Amino acid sequence: MPPLRMLYSRFTSCSGCQLTLLNCEGELATLAEAVEVAGFSMATSRCDDGGPVEIALVEGSISRTAELEELLGLRRRARYLVAVGACALTGGVNVLGEGDREVLIGQVYGPGLEGESFPPQPVSRFVRVDLELAGCPPEPGDYLRLLGSLARGGLPELPTYPVCMECRLRENLCLLSESRQPCLGPITRAGCNARCPALGVICEGCRGPAEEPNWSELAGLLRELGIGPREVRLRMARFVGKDHEDSLR
Ligand code: SF4
Ligand code: SF4
Repeated sequence: MPPLRMLYSRFTSCSGCQLTLLNCEGELATLAEAVEVAGFSMATSRCDDGGPVEIALVEGSISRTAELEELLGLRRRARYLVAVGACALTGGVNVLGEGDREVLIGQVYGPGLEGESFPPQPVSRFVRVDLELAGCPPEPGDYLRLLGSLARGGLPELPTYPVCMECRLRENLCLLSESRQPCLGPITRAGCNARCPALGVICEGCRGPAEEPNWSELAGLLRELGIGPREVRLRMARFVGKDHEDSLR
């Protein structure tokens, strides 16, 4: 079977998602045989030749005109375009920050920021996305499942149910109901095998919303813990982007 031609592109992001793929050290030799890297700035100095690819992995939100043009070009070149990580799926941490955007930019970068930028947007706002790898960053196993499935000719099925499902399967103590901590597992997409709750750490929601999350029910439970409405909203908004603003009011 010919190697899978893959391109990894980075937009407005911290590069943590790419790093997770490169951290699959036990599998990299196998991947190198199965995958032809057409471009991946963190992994190779080989220049992208601009040709068609089987899969384009896209990390980061879109916040500049040049990024948007590159994304549109990627969509034309790729059979499958996969959005990777919270930034690409929802805007991620890039959309956080209350107040005037110009003021925020000035506070972070100082005066005279050059370049054309706009509020960060998820990748799906501009192009068709064939699959989403959730997480901030995704799990190494997400990448391996994706590339393994593609090598066999298709896209994998990924969980859309909440973290609580995996947490209960691990028979963890429930941090929300039993030790009254503000765990976001009930509204968060599974796939991490409830790593944080298994270590006694609350879920912060980094994999984004599960399918049909019950926002109001969880918000009510968090308020019963004595957390104020603004803090509840900020906690729940961290990895969900702007699309769910109305649900969080
Ligand atoms: S999703 Fe998280 S790890 Fe990935 S680029 Fe964005 S901030 Fe970094
Ligand atoms: S600890 Fe969190 S993720 Fe686990 S069952 Fe309780 S609420 Fe759900």
